[in-house]
Amino acid sequence: NNYSLIDNPNADNLAEHFPLCMQHLYQNLCEKHHLKHFARIQFNLFLKGIGLTVEEALAFWRKSFSEIDEAKFLKDYAYNIRHNYGLEGKRQDYKPLNCMSIISSYRPNSGEIHGCPFREFSQSNLSAKLVQMGVRDEEHIKEILNLTEGEHYQIACTKYFEITRGLSDKNNDNVIIGTIEHPNEYLNASVSNEK
Ligand code: SF4
Repeated sequence: NNYSLIDNPNADNLAEHFPLCMQHLYQNLCEKHHLKHFARIQFNLFLKGIGLTVEEALAFWRKSFSEIDEAKFLKDYAYNIRHNYGLEGKRQDYKPLNCMSIISSYRPNSGEIHGCPFREFSQSNLSAKLVQMGVRDEEHIKEILNLTEGEHYQIACTKYFEITRGLSDKNNDNVIIGTIEHPNEYLNASVSNEK
């Protein structure tokens, strides 16, 4: 099942295919064993888009929130996870968020880490993050920063995809794949590209 992709040593292999927004949330979750409300919604709906069932999602979050006891988990977190799957409240079956929603709606306040890094990170933080993710060429970094400065966040993300997958070099300004519109589309494109 899909959960096994996350709940085993191959989890990091799958995480390599995550777009930067989800990488950032996943890294924080692994380090701090917690994510705040909107970060949880953004990541949980992404997991739903990967194909995790509600039981698999609950098991994933239970394991990830390792410093929280069972009673607190059930009281404060399980409801919202089930809610995303349309099993609580008005029973709306929420769709995984697309880039437009992540970029424009529910923007993070200070202390929150959800949203799109191409929009929310300062230039210096984004530059450091890109280096951390293996983008070493200064021209490439400049290109991505210029795109974000021009508010072309999804094109910056698409460029990042191409650069990190060796589909782009600095003599080639063309975007090869269609502009990324959805984090789950990014993941699927990345998995297919590896095949
Ligand atoms: Fe995520 Fe979309 Fe932003 Fe890329 S453009 S980091 S997929 S929200």
